[in-house]
Amino acid sequence: MKKINEITTGKAKSLYTTDVSDQLIMHFRDDTSAFDGKKKEALLGKGAVNNQFNAFIMEHLEAKGVNTHHIEVLNSTDSLVYKLEMFPIECVVRNRATGSICRRLGTKDGLILDTPLFEFFLKDDELGDPLITDEHILSFGWAGEEDIKEMKEITLNINTILCELFLSSNLILVDFKVEFGLFDGKLLLADEFTPDGCRLWDTETLAKMDKDRFRQGLGDVVESYHQVADRLGMNIKLD
Ligand code: ADP
Ligand code: UDP
Repeated sequence: MKKINEITTGKAKSLYTTDVSDQLIMHFRDDTSAFDGKKKEALLGKGAVNNQFNAFIMEHLEAKGVNTHHIEVLNSTDSLVYKLEMFPIECVVRNRATGSICRRLGTKDGLILDTPLFEFFLKDDELGDPLITDEHILSFGWAGEEDIKEMKEITLNINTILCELFLSSNLILVDFKVEFGLFDGKLLLADEFTPDGCRLWDTETLAKMDKDRFRQGLGDVVESYHQVADRLGMNIKLD
């Protein structure tokens, strides 16, 4: 499968058309960004670890019955995915309060929530990805009622599946963001699941092993992603 035309260049990935009209190549770049694109850096080897990390998680989720856009890994930094009509929405689940919710609600950092908290955000960097409700989504036509219900159910199910997976490697899944799209009217998990879009803390020390290392200038960003991958038994190829 070869890349034909670049159709999307996001902050960390690029999408290319292929000779199959409904399949795209997703290329994971080393580019890393935070604060809605205001902090940027290229971190050597991050594209490779994220591509293979993402494939491992997508395949684990598929095995547990979650429908995803992932087809197969093509090489160290590229995977083949179904081309979806994306919802302009980010779905977040939190098990502990940290990050934007602490700024928004003045909550103590690290507070364990009584139940996992689901939130929708509008995918719009210029507006700083604002928090939105189901009503905003319906009124602005960003998704339908059934899509909203499915996105919540699937995201919470992903949380259950991945909390268990990470905990077995002594990691706490603090929170994460996922995106969805439609393929022939069917709702599929899209985009990526990597340490760029979730928070993972060591169960003993609570050390951060995710993109907060980049956001907070803690260093060893890619090294930490590799440590998580190693703990989960992934065999990351660098080539
Ligand atoms: P961002 O858009 O946040 O800068 P990325 O660099 O990750 O982030 O860009 C990837 C883009 O590809 C995102 O806009 C995402 O919504 C989109 N995308 C992810 N999966 C698919 C898919 N299967 N089909 C079409 N678009 C997708
Ligand atoms: N997240 C993401 N992309 C975004 C916003 C958030 O991947 O554009 C992830 C982030 O890594 C964290 C979760 O979603 O795992 C919740 O992020 P939060 O709302 O706390 O925002 P932040 O503190 O990252 O601004």
